[in-house]
Amino acid sequence: MNQVTQPGLGRSTVLVTGASGYIAGWIIQYLLEEGCTVHATVRDPNKASSVGHLLKMAENSPGTLKLFKADLLDKGAFTAAMEGCDIVMHTASPFVLEGFTDANEALVRPALEGTRNVLESVNACPSVRRVVLTSSVAAIYGDNCDIEKIPSRTFTEDHWNTTSTVDHNPYQFSKTVAEQEAWKMQQAQSRWDLVTINPAMVYGPSLTKGSQSASIDTLVKMGDGRLRTGVPKLTYGVVDVREVARAHVLAAFKPEASGRHILNAGELTMLQIAKILRGKFGKRYPFPTMEVPTFAVWAFGPLFDRSVSRDFIKKNVGYPVHFDNNRSKALGVRYRPVEETFTEHFQQILDDWLVKTR
Ligand code: NAP
Repeated sequence: MNQVTQPGLGRSTVLVTGASGYIAGWIIQYLLEEGCTVHATVRDPNKASSVGHLLKMAENSPGTLKLFKADLLDKGAFTAAMEGCDIVMHTASPFVLEGFTDANEALVRPALEGTRNVLESVNACPSVRRVVLTSSVAAIYGDNCDIEKIPSRTFTEDHWNTTSTVDHNPYQFSKTVAEQEAWKMQQAQSRWDLVTINPAMVYGPSLTKGSQSASIDTLVKMGDGRLRTGVPKLTYGVVDVREVARAHVLAAFKPEASGRHILNAGELTMLQIAKILRGKFGKRYPFPTMEVPTFAVWAFGPLFDRSVSRDFIKKNVGYPVHFDNNRSKALGVRYRPVEETFTEHFQQILDDWLVKTR
């Protein structure tokens, strides 16, 4: 599935930013399997929970891994790591939806200034010929209700998120301004090209227990009872992390790859996800069994979860979303069934004791 057969791929040297992350783990695994040299940047190369799995991966593969220290907000921090690289994959960006007080500092500044910082190093590094940016469908739309403004009721790569701000959906805003900055900087020169990967919500087994990714947190909450009383009628696009990683490799090494790529295997409500998990893991875990009526979500949701505002509920709960994934299929992405994604992801969560067996 999703094999890349580009001659010479194994001779490439690839920089991956945010190497400790959930998606980056799989990207690095595939690059090492192909025999690439991977320059992996992390904030703390001495932290075992960030890099232990990467070091083990490198021991068992034909590729070579080199670790570098770099923070998105440190000017020039990526320059040394980029030396000799032909491809730059920029995945690093905070993906947290709660637990912060200043959204600009927590999300927008690292995403925007970090992208600028990485691309300034690309401008100064003559060996780089392509940048693959991990963007998101968050840069395509902000709230589910945005779909009502689209006559085809389907989000495509032509659409941009115009509704998020630092105060409303700051994560979505951070991804939008970061991707826009990347295109602006790419268009200001002609040596390197840019391909963006715009995944919907990513699920599937994680190679690291250390990630703070909101993807992992959502499934843990489904299994540990925090959503026992029910879930809002919220629909997401979903995609397997392994398809997202393969898409990065395809985007890097297919010469004809260009532009933006929505990655979406299907659209599911939270209750449909819970149903898949209950079908596989039975009643041993307190997966939600019902949808909370929208008026109750509106009235009580913000009291239980301060990261969810009434404005968000009004603009998202009850609205379906649809995505056109044809550009990703043309790139070579083959989507596995979503049932496989969720059952394998929840099994990994159990194996890693993130939810205790009952
Ligand atoms: P993740 O596991 O939390 O990875 C994010 C990475 O960003 C971490 O490795 C983190 O490194 C790094 N990072 C954060 N702030 C940094 C800073 N100031 N300097 C340097 N590195 C920093 O999340 P993920 O889900 O893999 O997300 C990876 C990318 O995919 C992000 O760009 C995200 O927006 C995008 N994306 C994710 C999803 C999804 O559903 N998961 C969907 C669409 C797009 P540390 O180890 O140093 O903290």
